[in-house]
Amino acid sequence: MSNRDYYEILGVGRNASDDEIKGAFRKLARQYHPDVNKEHDAEEKFKEINEAYGVLSDSDKRARYDRFGKEGLGNMGGGFHDYSADFGDIFEDLLSGFGFSTGRRSRKSPRRGRDLQMQVTLNFEEAVFGVEKDIEFQREETCSRCNGSGAEPGTSPTRCSTCNGQGEVRQVRQTFLGSMVQTATCPACNGRGEIISSPCHTCRGGGLERKVIKKKVQIPAGVDVGTQIRLNGEGGPGVFGGPSGSLFLVLDVRPHKFFKRRDNDVLLNLDINIAQAVLGAEVQVPTLDGDEKLKIPAGTQPGKVFHIRGKGVPHLRRNGRGDQLVLINVEIPAKLTKEQKDLFEKLAESLGTSVKPQEKGFLDWLNERLGG
Ligand SMILES: [Zn+2]
Ligand SMILES: [Zn+2]
Repeated sequence: MSNRDYYEILGVGRNASDDEIKGAFRKLARQYHPDVNKEHDAEEKFKEINEAYGVLSDSDKRARYDRFGKEGLGNMGGGFHDYSADFGDIFEDLLSGFGFSTGRRSRKSPRRGRDLQMQVTLNFEEAVFGVEKDIEFQREETCSRCNGSGAEPGTSPTRCSTCNGQGEVRQVRQTFLGSMVQTATCPACNGRGEIISSPCHTCRGGGLERKVIKKKVQIPAGVDVGTQIRLNGEGGPGVFGGPSGSLFLVLDVRPHKFFKRRDNDVLLNLDINIAQAVLGAEVQVPTLDGDEKLKIPAGTQPGKVFHIRGKGVPHLRRNGRGDQLVLINVEIPAKLTKEQKDLFEKLAESLGTSVKPQEKGFLDWLNERLGG
């Protein structure tokens, strides 16, 4: 609470009229409003001015103050309070004069519709090569019965009396800096500016209707799990003439029986038998484009990776495709015929019994080949 004399604070005489007090307060409030005045004591002065005005603008309080001083005010006095509520417009013109927004934008200005999102699941080949996909989703659309007005056909909405058709109401909010004028959506009409007395039977007055939308969508080649496709204008409808929102398709891809994907390369594990590994062979390997011949050289080790160029996944936003990587596994037979067993025994005699430690483990080898 200020110790200075209230008349002194406002710079008026003891006989000042209400209008003089009001005028003095307005002038000082403009001068010391902390949003405008950046001096360190501006806020303190502003509070003081408010306090003085709070007392001197109230004839009851002013009379007590004149007779008994601040003591006479008791709990009525001083504090920082509602005194300038009726001066909301001071702060509004003051703030807007300095480029502050005072929230006077009309609630009826166009707004963009909501964005929608849906998941679309593709099989492996669809993601690799692209596909035209039928999708079905629900979307709110302008009600066809009332054309979005919300009023039952044959009736029309009336102007909201709470906001006078503005769609918004002004409120004075108290802050420790004083009163701030804010605008809020009109609670009576929810910002529409109109009251619907006979709501449309289809949309119950909301002006919107939920519809099932069916569309064909072109999914480009090379998409992967998590790829998003944005369809402009396929989201919720705009408000007051604003544009529609977007529909985002979030893609998921089912795993393939054989193939795994690593970015734009396709991985395939291939089992060959021990004779093919030792002697070499020409084998048929499945690829995304059908079977391909692959030459296995003699002496191929387990973990060897062969690249089949250009048989991977197309790049999404540029030309070209990744590779297919074929990771070789040599199958050790668990069951042998009598004849095979004889042959292996002969082989065993010929190869001898010595062993040598590995310089590199199989896993090191694998990591090196696959680059990580
Ligand atoms: Zn309707
Ligand atoms: Zn209203």
